[in-house]
Amino acid sequence: MENTATSNFLQNIITDDLADGRVTEVVTRFPPEPNGYLHIGHAKSISVNFGLAEANGGRCNLRFDDTNPEKESQEFIESIQADVQWLGYEWSGEVRFASSYFGQLYEWAIYLVEQGKAYVCDLNADEAREYRGTLTESGINSPYRDRSVEENLELLAGMKAGEFDEGSKVLRAKIDMASPNMNMRDPILYRIRKVTHHQTGNDWVIYPTYDFAHGQEDAIEGVTHSICTLEFEDHRPLYDWLIESLPVSSRPRQYEFGRLNPSYTITSKRKLKQLVDENVVVGWDDPRMPTVSGMRRRGYSPAAIRKFCDMIGTTRSDGVVDVAMLEFAIREDLNENAPRAMAVLNPLKVVLTDYPEDKTEELNAPRHPSREDLGERSLPFTREIYIDADDFREEANKKYKRLVLGKRVRLRNAYVIEADSAIKDDAGNILEVHAHTIPNTLGENPEDGIKPKGVIQWVSASRGERAELRIYDRLFNHESPDKGDNDFMEHLNPESLQVVKEAWVEPSLLEAVPEQNFQFEREGYFVADRYDHSSERPVFNKTIGLRDTWNG
Ligand code: ATP
Ligand code: MG
Repeated sequence: MENTATSNFLQNIITDDLADGRVTEVVTRFPPEPNGYLHIGHAKSISVNFGLAEANGGRCNLRFDDTNPEKESQEFIESIQADVQWLGYEWSGEVRFASSYFGQLYEWAIYLVEQGKAYVCDLNADEAREYRGTLTESGINSPYRDRSVEENLELLAGMKAGEFDEGSKVLRAKIDMASPNMNMRDPILYRIRKVTHHQTGNDWVIYPTYDFAHGQEDAIEGVTHSICTLEFEDHRPLYDWLIESLPVSSRPRQYEFGRLNPSYTITSKRKLKQLVDENVVVGWDDPRMPTVSGMRRRGYSPAAIRKFCDMIGTTRSDGVVDVAMLEFAIREDLNENAPRAMAVLNPLKVVLTDYPEDKTEELNAPRHPSREDLGERSLPFTREIYIDADDFREEANKKYKRLVLGKRVRLRNAYVIEADSAIKDDAGNILEVHAHTIPNTLGENPEDGIKPKGVIQWVSASRGERAELRIYDRLFNHESPDKGDNDFMEHLNPESLQVVKEAWVEPSLLEAVPEQNFQFEREGYFVADRYDHSSERPVFNKTIGLRDTWNG
């Protein structure tokens, strides 16, 4: 497949910039705000920013855009770093923080005031909104707009010194209240927030806005291509105005691409936080969450996520991407790489009455149909085994290719057996099935002329192990759970998690290590849980089914 990291419109811009000599080294950055865990949309942004730097021999910074201390935390800072690394990217140098530039930004605020390009405004939030105008009506100048430079410097110093209450004053750029672009109508540069910051403690009681911080941080770091999503397009004139108005030493440029919105998914940190806070899921890394850590725990590999990000391309439109494309990438990767194993979710005992009680055969089976490098595992075959209750019927028509009384079926990687009788309790429930093996049918292609119609999975009852299987499915049953008037809380899939407490799995799975992927034959792809799995208590999460059951 074509590598879109080198073929999208952003690459074309970079190619031109390098050819023109506008830049000599490509520097990008990934700038998350540490107010939540990273999600699939961030994975796209990471793959774009790190991918373009990598493809052009440049570098990419990881910079926390930590200008809203109330909503941010150290937990988020740590999870974000872990997620970027897990996705397989390495940032250039140390992790950076917008907060470490607060001193420089403040000096630049003074500079703008001195240039007559910024002023302290006392309008409260409601008044400011009225003065701002609308998309169709231009705004009105603030009555504080013409304060002298001296007065503004004094008030700004007072804001910094904590002399004023929150909300009583802001610093604004003096641009154009009649601009058709609302972002240019004297935007706020600094606001008063008397809160402790996770990095700078109580050093500051004023904090820069996103607009005043972002481009300047890019300039400080020598970022050449500041790539963000389309909602910032209207901010670009302000980005450029600030860079042109300030004595910065480099000239970054902002470029936008369309956000990734997979169907059946929400990618707003605020809404994801609500799912966590209201215990709809169990934490940010719940395997149903579209977070990077959730996808990790679900059993998605970093390579498959990167592949998906590449596959969907990078464009300037905000369309919805079918989540089935993500699932396709996950399945493809697992089909190629996941060892096969057998698990029985709904166990029904089968007693092979001809097979000696004290006998065990250690049968070898490949771990993967085409990956010889993955080797073989041993499957102990014994008189009593479990099969799935769905794989047995007393009577059935020809379409049913599993075990039926008086009929034969192959046990995967083992013998052909024939069912003789069903043992029932007084209420008529089947307790166990009695069957016998057909001699000389061991191996997948015996030359015995016996061709049973079906193959079913099984696990030795005496040598198999009990395991907990957590069967996950999509979290939402609506294609666009939060678009328009939709309340995403009303579109939760009630069957997004079903726990099978007592499944049976083949004993080789005791060697499984947390985060190891498997294909449980006929059941789907599973992963040993990152936190709860151990050889004492095997726990596997269902990653995804073998085929798409949502779209048929
Ligand atoms: P949210 O709306 O979920 O809070 P955000 O854009 O505020 O997301 P940030 O932490 O500011 O989150 O995002 C860091 C970077 O990731 C930004 O450059 C942003 O444009 C990008 N990003 C966020 N969501 C997506 C998405 N769905 N698709 C592509 N890029 C995204
Ligand atoms: Mg943001």
